[in-house]
Amino acid sequence: MTAPIDAPHRAGRSCAAGIAWGAFGEGCGMAANRGHRLQLADITQRFGDFIAVENIDLDVSGGEMVALLGPSGCGKSTLLRIVSGFIRQSEGHVLFDGQAVDHLSPRERGVGIVFQNYALFPHMTVAQNVAYGLEAHKWPKAKVAPRVAEMLDLVHMSEFAERRPRQLSGGQQQRIALARCLAIDPKVLLLDEPFGALDKNLRLDMQLEVKSLQRDLGITTILVTHDQDEAMSTADRIAVLRAGRVEQVATPAAIYDQPASLFVAQFIGSTNILYGEIAAADRTHASIRLDAGVTLGVPVARSFRPGERAILSVRPEQLFLSDRAGPDRFPVALRMTLPLGPNLVHEATLPRGGSIKVTEPRIGAAERQYGVWHCGLIAGARASLFPAENSHN
Ligand code: ADP
Ligand code: MG
Repeated sequence: MTAPIDAPHRAGRSCAAGIAWGAFGEGCGMAANRGHRLQLADITQRFGDFIAVENIDLDVSGGEMVALLGPSGCGKSTLLRIVSGFIRQSEGHVLFDGQAVDHLSPRERGVGIVFQNYALFPHMTVAQNVAYGLEAHKWPKAKVAPRVAEMLDLVHMSEFAERRPRQLSGGQQQRIALARCLAIDPKVLLLDEPFGALDKNLRLDMQLEVKSLQRDLGITTILVTHDQDEAMSTADRIAVLRAGRVEQVATPAAIYDQPASLFVAQFIGSTNILYGEIAAADRTHASIRLDAGVTLGVPVARSFRPGERAILSVRPEQLFLSDRAGPDRFPVALRMTLPLGPNLVHEATLPRGGSIKVTEPRIGAAERQYGVWHCGLIAGARASLFPAENSHN
């Protein structure tokens, strides 16, 4: 069994984003059908008795960029090594374009890998570093120099061709690592925390640059990261991993709006946890009587029993504070307001213990006195309901 491909959604997203880049790239849709399909079929990896990844199914369509996102130690790099062929999995198969590549060496698979620590050869110049992969792949000598020039141009590093890696900044070194790996025209691009060593602003620039390159080249890409913002901003789809298993595979928006588990809800973005008891439920809808005092209805994707304890997860920006009480509002005591860049973050306590966070845009926000306010869900809020027995998750 493999996860379904979400191609229409992906194409829509790429095109919308492509407008801004149209002047620089080659426009919308050029990447379609160019990349190679990558499938992981029921992959399990054991190291002795330890199971690093278990029963992983993932279907990445040609030209798609999927992020493997999860906390440190959840098995992201192990999966990447399995795709590249550096580790032979204990069970399951890796397929490129529907063909198993399990028996092929990393070189025969034709994958390009970029790691966090650049991994450039310090004694070689930039140009020699990029040429290295081509020579190792036995490119005809006459074609190596023009290809190196083309790749350095692609990553805007032509003028640095004769420098050594230590004469470059981290971001520049990472561009060279990328050029080296793209030079061989890999079937699949594998990025293992490639921006991890860069400082915040540079990281954002590099994310944009790599995303735009990836889309223009139409290259199937797996990005490993523990940084949710990075996954949200660069990937077409995100696979959230937890302790060696996939919790959810979906578009960034779907992961954020319809998290499949409390773990995903808490790992992606931040969320408020409101406890309560199911008042009524059918297959598609449930209402929860919150301990905070109100009953709220939400769409659900699983069944709940009336009387069952449950958790409502609501994003801080999907709550509001009002000076008026109402049937859908519960009282909270505002204790603290912090200006966090573009937002105000309010921290308020609930009548029966616990606290919540409410954010609102800082510009135009009314001044709020500490004390009692009435809290409700904004129109269109996407609250998610989870069984309370998972609360230790
Ligand atoms: P991530 O990249 O998500 O941080 P890894 O894939 O590197 O995690 O590791 C997943 C788990 O597998 C970790 O607990 C790690 O210690 C373990 N592991 C990884 N490689 C080996 C190995 N060669 N031998 C034993 N355990 C390993
Ligand atoms: Mg890792």
